[in-house]
Amino acid sequence: MRATEYAIRAYNVSVEEQIRLQTRKDPILSELFIYTRDGWPQTFEDELKPFEIRKSEIFIENEILMWGYRVIIPFKLRQLLLTELHSSHMGATKMKALARSYFWWPHLDENISEISKNCQVCLSYRSDPPKVISGGWPEVLEPMDRIHMDYAGPVFKNKMFLIIIDACSKWPEVYEVIKADTFYTLEKFREFCSRFGIPKCVVTDNGTCFSSSEFSEFCTINGITHLTSPSYHPSSNGLAGNFVKSFKNTLYKMLNDKNNETLQTKLQKFIFYYRNTPHSTTNKVPSSLMLGRKVNIRLEQLFQGWSDRKRNKSWNKQKIVYSENKQFSGNDSVYVRDYSRPNERGWIHAIIQEQLGTYLFLCQTDDGRILKRHIDQIIKAGEFYEAPVLNPNEQQDVSIPTAIFPKTPVSQKTDRNPTPQVPTDTESTQSQIGLISTPKQSELTVNVGNSNGVIQTTPKTSKHVKIDKNNTKTERPVRARKAPDRLKYE
Ligand SMILES: [Zn+2]
Repeated sequence: MRATEYAIRAYNVSVEEQIRLQTRKDPILSELFIYTRDGWPQTFEDELKPFEIRKSEIFIENEILMWGYRVIIPFKLRQLLLTELHSSHMGATKMKALARSYFWWPHLDENISEISKNCQVCLSYRSDPPKVISGGWPEVLEPMDRIHMDYAGPVFKNKMFLIIIDACSKWPEVYEVIKADTFYTLEKFREFCSRFGIPKCVVTDNGTCFSSSEFSEFCTINGITHLTSPSYHPSSNGLAGNFVKSFKNTLYKMLNDKNNETLQTKLQKFIFYYRNTPHSTTNKVPSSLMLGRKVNIRLEQLFQGWSDRKRNKSWNKQKIVYSENKQFSGNDSVYVRDYSRPNERGWIHAIIQEQLGTYLFLCQTDDGRILKRHIDQIIKAGEFYEAPVLNPNEQQDVSIPTAIFPKTPVSQKTDRNPTPQVPTDTESTQSQIGLISTPKQSELTVNVGNSNGVIQTTPKTSKHVKIDKNNTKTERPVRARKAPDRLKYE
């Protein structure tokens, strides 16, 4: 769980906004901006040379300069990103690989090399140059074909760590153990298997904890081939050996990094970055090979704005179309889900007060409660009994109306009862509500007249957006539409 903290902890100020601002202020980038937009002149400053040679791949997206998929970072923000990049003291090669997938500026690689060369913590724990190239194990085709297992320690007040690394993906697992014996080794090995399944082959050295009869029995029962490499010859167990070395090194570095983080935090931070940085031998990110998906990391967060836009373009389209079908403006008369009576599901009349986010609204009920509701939990009053005029040919083929599924055709109902009906299909209703993370627990009841009317219980993620009343589609003047007119709106 700890590891996800790094992904979750977002920056207070929108980095996208900062980049936009600093790009305008940056003497070089502001010129580059103009040249990219309006075309390059015959002569320009020498500092623009590195950009000029890439000019065919540089473009502007949302007022931010991009080189391919990488954001071009203004001078003022470069140190911030370098610090972020080096926060786990990973080596220059790994940092470069990670940086390359997100951002760029001229001499980025040199700057990265400098930061690790000048880092006092890194300098004092620099390891010896590699002496032996590891002997070749047979090639593995997929994750869990072969894992390597070894102990690191004792470090930091006699702490021992069992290290397991998957040969294919390079995904590492690190378990702190009380004692490096067979009992604890098997305990952690079982934990590993419960998470990732049983490996086909495990490679260890001849340490007593691995050579015991219990360990080989465990392997036999589970159909695991157990290979051992001679002790005192760590290069034979090269993969795990290297990892143990780099792991120990980084752990020492982190322990000497005088910040307030606990050993566990430091450890998780290191593993987190290790798992999410392209590995030098595979050029792939261990987590994507092991888990089959890209894991969200803090750097991702920095650039979330546009990576999200790119990745979710089609998804966004669906969402927008969906929400356009259901639009609310201030003072709209609506019915909202009422969860105040736990055993009765029902709807209650309310007035839309404010839009909190794309799909989130504050609604005031007739008895004065302020409820926060997702768009799926709101129905416009009257939506149920105002049947649209249907084509006579289609009238026979109508389905049952539900507010939960606004896309389904609305039937021509003769029942003029203004009380909205509670959909009886509870299973699909629940699954809809389950998707939106605002079930009962998040229900907010706030006194309206309280302290200047400021409502303090809004969630961290939602942005306060006042409803733009001009933006609703209902008030358009009626006029004949011709096809070519559409072009004017684009
Ligand atoms: Zn360092």
